[in-house]
Amino acid sequence: MSRASTEYRYNRLTWPEMNEAIARQKLVILPTGSTEQHGHHLPLDVDLFLCESVCQEVGRRAPDRVLVLPPIPYGLNLHHIDFPGTIHVEPDVFINFCLNVTKSVAYHGFRKILVVNGHGSNAPLIDLVARKTVLETESLCFATTYFWFLMEAFKEVRESEVIAHADEFETSLYLHLAGDRVQMDKAVEDNDRMGEFVSSDSTMNYFVRFNDYWGRWTQTGVHGDPTKATAEKGRIIFEAAVDGLVRLVDELRDWPIERRADMHAGPVQSQIRW
Ligand SMILES: [Zn+2]
Repeated sequence: MSRASTEYRYNRLTWPEMNEAIARQKLVILPTGSTEQHGHHLPLDVDLFLCESVCQEVGRRAPDRVLVLPPIPYGLNLHHIDFPGTIHVEPDVFINFCLNVTKSVAYHGFRKILVVNGHGSNAPLIDLVARKTVLETESLCFATTYFWFLMEAFKEVRESEVIAHADEFETSLYLHLAGDRVQMDKAVEDNDRMGEFVSSDSTMNYFVRFNDYWGRWTQTGVHGDPTKATAEKGRIIFEAAVDGLVRLVDELRDWPIERRADMHAGPVQSQIRW
């Protein structure tokens, strides 16, 4: 077996091996996270570490079909800047940086790319990265957030209402993957300001999109209840996320790339670039 079919880490291949990986049309995964405060009990690497761990495990289970890129460690985070250590990258810089990565991958001949998000605030940016990659290359690029694949499993074990930030879900996953880095004695519940239609961290179930500076409404940096977290819940949701993403990998690899049909009766100005 060639290394191109057994190595899932993108940058562990040599360039001749990369030619083989391209010939095999492995799906290239770009994990993205953030460096952002996560309360008193979790380190700043939560979004990055959790997302990369999930993607790496997908690679371990499907090494013949997947290459996992080094992750993007920063994102849109100015709303957390009142908490020491948080790193913010402007949305246009983030989009363009990720787009340069996906376009490089497309340039080499990979036709399918998957961007996996681990930081809620990056979701709309990653959506645009995937869409622009499709529109500006001959490859297909898809965007997802790994949380969606574990929600059903989490429903069965959760004991708190809110899933948002440094909460039962993220803390459980971190406890499962690296429990020695979680300071559970410092975990506290905290919530945002909620109205009928608006909340200060409108994660879901709100008609209005709004995210305030977190320094305005929380002293802890937590949104949710991490005291309910356990490593066992983390194990269950980690498995669900990895299983779902492996199934997604197979669906995307089978997804056809059709030829575009041009419906114009006359000539178009195909040199125009947007
Ligand atoms: Zn997080």
